[in-house]
Amino acid sequence: MVNLDALAIAAHPDDIEITCGGLLINMAKQNRKTGALDLTRGEMGTFGTQADRDSEAIAAGEMMGLAYRNNLSMADSAVAYNQDNKFKIAQVIRDTKPELVILPHWEQRHPDHLACTKLGYDACFLAGLKKVDLEGDPHRPRKIIYISYSRTADFSFLVNISDSFKQKCDAVSAYGSQFDNPENAKRIFQPGLDVFEYMETKAKFLGQLAGVQYAESYFIKESILIDDPQNMPIASI
Ligand SMILES: [Zn+2]
Repeated sequence: MVNLDALAIAAHPDDIEITCGGLLINMAKQNRKTGALDLTRGEMGTFGTQADRDSEAIAAGEMMGLAYRNNLSMADSAVAYNQDNKFKIAQVIRDTKPELVILPHWEQRHPDHLACTKLGYDACFLAGLKKVDLEGDPHRPRKIIYISYSRTADFSFLVNISDSFKQKCDAVSAYGSQFDNPENAKRIFQPGLDVFEYMETKAKFLGQLAGVQYAESYFIKESILIDDPQNMPIASI
């Protein structure tokens, strides 16, 4: 089993690509090992069969340079916040030993996303307990960062994805059953919202805040400790 630098955990296939695909691609380009754990197979989605979405997720993962991808086949639109599901994720964390875990933000509109962030956090905790009933050695990720589809304010830091943005869009394009037909694609998020326009607008807006072409925003619960404020990026005036 691979030892990962970073593992992103999300409820549905394509959540990871759309939200934190740029960071995962950046890391893979630096020869760091990245992984994606999808909790459901998106079987309640309006478009595409389960087989379509399974093969699309594999193709998207290859485009992002993932070293690992897994799907826990929990019930789509009914992801339960329970001990059984916490243990399933905790076992993956033990198996893959990520140092960084990326979870959905803790405030969510979609119940699956909310369950995912709570399950993911608890699983990170449980995986580090010695006496818990899991296989393998205890492992606790050192850092958890959070992503959001909808929030563009109050984030903790930005990641420059200018060199990875096109690849990120290509990875999302791999989900042809969802996004090939523009009219269908506009029914996935809010009515009328095209996923590629959404990604472009958001990443450009965030990029402008940092003086780069495209960026992704992340949230953390801890403080950020800086060694050298003299060399902090982004000029004040
Ligand atoms: Zn989702």
